[in-house]
Amino acid sequence: VRPDGALVDTPAPGIYLYPGHVETVVHGLGQALTTLLGTDLQRSLRTPPVIARSIIERAGYHESFPHLLGRVTTQAGSGMPAESDLVLLPAGCYCVYPLYADTRLTSATELSVEATCFRQEGSAEMGRLRSFRMREFVWIGPGEQCLSWRDRCLSAVRGWLTDLGLTTETAVASDPFFGAGSRLIRQLQIEQGLKIEILATVGKGQIQAVASGNYHKDQFGRLFAIFDHTGNITHSACLAFGYERLVLALIHRHGDDPNRWPGRVRDMLRLGALA
Ligand code: ATP
Ligand code: ZN
Ligand code: MG
Repeated sequence: VRPDGALVDTPAPGIYLYPGHVETVVHGLGQALTTLLGTDLQRSLRTPPVIARSIIERAGYHESFPHLLGRVTTQAGSGMPAESDLVLLPAGCYCVYPLYADTRLTSATELSVEATCFRQEGSAEMGRLRSFRMREFVWIGPGEQCLSWRDRCLSAVRGWLTDLGLTTETAVASDPFFGAGSRLIRQLQIEQGLKIEILATVGKGQIQAVASGNYHKDQFGRLFAIFDHTGNITHSACLAFGYERLVLALIHRHGDDPNRWPGRVRDMLRLGALA
């Protein structure tokens, strides 16, 4: 058991078991996020931890982040082990774009997704898991509205986290793209402010993103042939939360026993009935 008692170690680095009180907090966070950001949702989905490999390939994830992707090998009948038609889901929003592939949206669309994600992370520091849970809100619509949606959400989220007692900062960030052009892509991503992270302390001396807001421009619209009501390739944005990191940040701030967290925090997360 980790010193903070939040996540229970297993023999595999970055893979943890979650005690009941952690699950109760995760559930409370999920409900609070729905209240905060989920008022205009077209759909609210839960995805399994695997996704069609064809989707991940259509999205180009296997080329941008091959070092993070978990592949699945299966052996059918008496045949040889072979790569399956599935891969481990690396982020929630990949399951959303195929829903609208080759269609024209009549209006902007907002969805929520709950996902269990896998990434083959290079280290297992506190808060950097290989299997973790992500809540995403995805906004699909005309470009000029994507950024304002993302930034409006980010500011609401910062206020919410402050009310939960957490000290946060925001930072323009970039993703760890793979390959020769990686440095350039990251630089462009930063210059254009496409990825904004909300950072919090998740453990002693450990500051990490508890939420990230991404503006994809027309990347997924183009790859999945999604058009907006004007007939243009649609743009999209997503806002993603790491449940385990949020729990770790709350435990770091308020202690490892949620029963003893401040009343206001307990109310916000509806922890009243905690045993
Ligand atoms: P980091 O910079 O810490 O690697 P990221 O940029 O890879 O994070 P995203 O891809 O934007 O993160 O994922 C969305 C959210 O999922 C993050 O803001 C974070 O809260 C959470 N998350 C990402 N990677 C992990 C992980 N390895 N373990 C736990 N939570 C994670
Ligand atoms: Zn996303
Ligand atoms: Mg990462």
